[in-house]
Amino acid sequence: MANYEELGVKKVINAAGTYTKYGGSLMSEEVLQAMQQAATQYVDIDQLLIKSGQYISDLLGVESALVTAGAAAGLTISSAAAMLDKDDYRITHLPRTETEKKEIIVMRCHRNPYDQALEMSGARIKEIGNAIETEPLQLKGAINDQTAAVVFFAQSAMFRASLTLKQVTEICDKFNVPVIVDAAAELPPLENLTSFYEQGATAVLFSGGKDIRGPQSSGLIIGTKDFIEKCRQNSYPHHAVGRPMKLDKETIMGFVRALELYLKEDHQQRRKYWQKITQKMVGQLKDLKEIEGAKVDYPTQPYTQPAVIPRAYLKFAAGSNLKPQGMARKLKEKDPAIVVVTDKEHLILNPQMLEPGEEEVVIKSIRELL
Ligand SMILES: *Cc1c(COP(=O)(O)O)cnc(C)c1O
Repeated sequence: MANYEELGVKKVINAAGTYTKYGGSLMSEEVLQAMQQAATQYVDIDQLLIKSGQYISDLLGVESALVTAGAAAGLTISSAAAMLDKDDYRITHLPRTETEKKEIIVMRCHRNPYDQALEMSGARIKEIGNAIETEPLQLKGAINDQTAAVVFFAQSAMFRASLTLKQVTEICDKFNVPVIVDAAAELPPLENLTSFYEQGATAVLFSGGKDIRGPQSSGLIIGTKDFIEKCRQNSYPHHAVGRPMKLDKETIMGFVRALELYLKEDHQQRRKYWQKITQKMVGQLKDLKEIEGAKVDYPTQPYTQPAVIPRAYLKFAAGSNLKPQGMARKLKEKDPAIVVVTDKEHLILNPQMLEPGEEEVVIKSIRELL
């Protein structure tokens, strides 16, 4: 029978975080049950998307919501929604159509590998600002008749050169331009589920398969009623640019259950647990002579999201013959593989997606390799 072992696919111990390339996160038994139950009958998918959206918007206290096939799908769908009015026949022509509004404004300091998904709808990115700073005047000056939306990537590492979301929403309000926030991996903290919306964003996107721990291929857009309705028209199962981003009924129901559970979870307790595990890893590794310093800290570099989860930082001694990257490679070669994050000087261990007890394997493996 085909299983991971039979296929020769190694298990991964995840000390890196909710990285999609390692499977993101694991679903709970309750989420799997919701999916299994959803699989036992046919439903009208359009109705399921509408009703699940209403249920979620009631849960979160927002105007409207739509389950998507991930946050990246949300970027394509929301940029399509920003380009055309409701019921515009050209919805079925995207990305090959000349629309009056084709430009999506993105701050240069927000450019990242996911923004390609914006242009999949046929929209074109228009950059403002530079790597050092962005001025409110540059945003005002960039807005014209062709502006479809401004997209704001909510990653703390980008904020140094960025306008604040408040500045962006205030300016866009005056010009009646929608603001789309990509907050895919910005959970925890839990408040982020609604805080960007409360700051005036028209739509906010999340991954369902990161900290919410729903199905890997799920996601969520919350936003204003009008904008979400447009997203829905550009989405699966309609014949639209979102049609290839398929969402099965099991994924939709699994996501709704995962979100319900996420809202009820004791997030303070999770935070305490992460503190305990990182302290344990630091405590049991700091005596190694190749490690010059070990500490619990919070990340500031791009791509290491979310910033509120403590990590174990292991600084390698200058004379050590293994560098953090070499160490990461060796850990990944093991069976089970152990995946971690590195920067120039550190090996970084993230407790967020470690299963109970796996920290022991991580500690033992690092000790053996050094
Ligand atoms: C992970 C991520 C995405 C993609 O999310 P999926 O749910 O995997 O499609 C998009 N944007 C950012 C900033 C992300 O971190």
